[in-house]
Amino acid sequence: MKAVRLHHYHEQPKIEEISEPKITGPHDVIVRIGGAGLCRTDLHIIEGQWAKITGVTLPYTLGHENAGWVHEIGSAVSNVAVGDTVIVHPLITCGLCRACRAGNDMHCINSAFPGVSVDGGMANFLKTSARAVVKLNPSLHPKDIAALADAGLTAYHAVKKASPLLYPGTKTVVIGAGGLGHIGIQCLKALTPTEIIVVDRSPAALELTRNWGADHTVVADGNHFVGEAGAEHDAVKMLRRAGSHFIIGYGGSLNVPTIDIISTEINFIGNLVGTYNDLAELMTLTAQGKVTLHTAIYPLDAALDAIHALDSGTLRGRGILVP
Ligand SMILES: [Zn+2]
Ligand SMILES: [Zn+2]
Repeated sequence: MKAVRLHHYHEQPKIEEISEPKITGPHDVIVRIGGAGLCRTDLHIIEGQWAKITGVTLPYTLGHENAGWVHEIGSAVSNVAVGDTVIVHPLITCGLCRACRAGNDMHCINSAFPGVSVDGGMANFLKTSARAVVKLNPSLHPKDIAALADAGLTAYHAVKKASPLLYPGTKTVVIGAGGLGHIGIQCLKALTPTEIIVVDRSPAALELTRNWGADHTVVADGNHFVGEAGAEHDAVKMLRRAGSHFIIGYGGSLNVPTIDIISTEINFIGNLVGTYNDLAELMTLTAQGKVTLHTAIYPLDAALDAIHALDSGTLRGRGILVP
């Protein structure tokens, strides 16, 4: 099969032929990929930012936002059958540790992260496990919803965590109206009565956010990306007293004097993807038409074009690779 493989950090991945994944455990599920989302994290992986955290062995296949159809199942898999349409939770989890039992899939102590720590879904087939697959209505096409597996899930998880704070009369600033931001705006609209202000460098991207629920839009005039090169500092300055900064994009550092934190009681909240239930809830919102994805489809063979477009800031919405 074809796969987008990273051989060396700081070098573009290669599109090459490798052997298909095989069922080796009773809970394994092999998914025929219908769409794999391209994420800013893929750029960060190529730059080597995740190398120490994941300890992954190169070469390996990128792609952590995956959806498709069940192709083959292990002997103990009972929740999906061959042919089912599925979206794939990003983590393969054990189901037995304390975090798993509490539903906190992202904090499983015995997990694998396809596309980050093991082979991912920018390929014809992906190996995952029964606990990771959410069965979908067959009317949904994987390429239309694949990005919800990570970008959408991360946005939904952060909004769900923030929602108890977002009573009527509150204001929420969304910095960045890209692949993740545009889903976050729709989730805010669906889950909360907060007033939504969107900041982005692109007037065109801001224009689109009006349809998704933005109440106000602000063109950023600096040269910054979300969570990098300055935006994280702007965010701190926008907080009200006792306000909360949900950090979703990443890459920069926060350096906030502790006296500022205690004197105003501001909060900083990390967000790592989301739970299986978050993903199932997000798929319900999608089926209800409350969350729609803005996608740019690329054939798998054009993966490097998509990576270049994302890197240069010309990709609008979410890039999806289709084998
Ligand atoms: Zn991602
Ligand atoms: Zn676990």
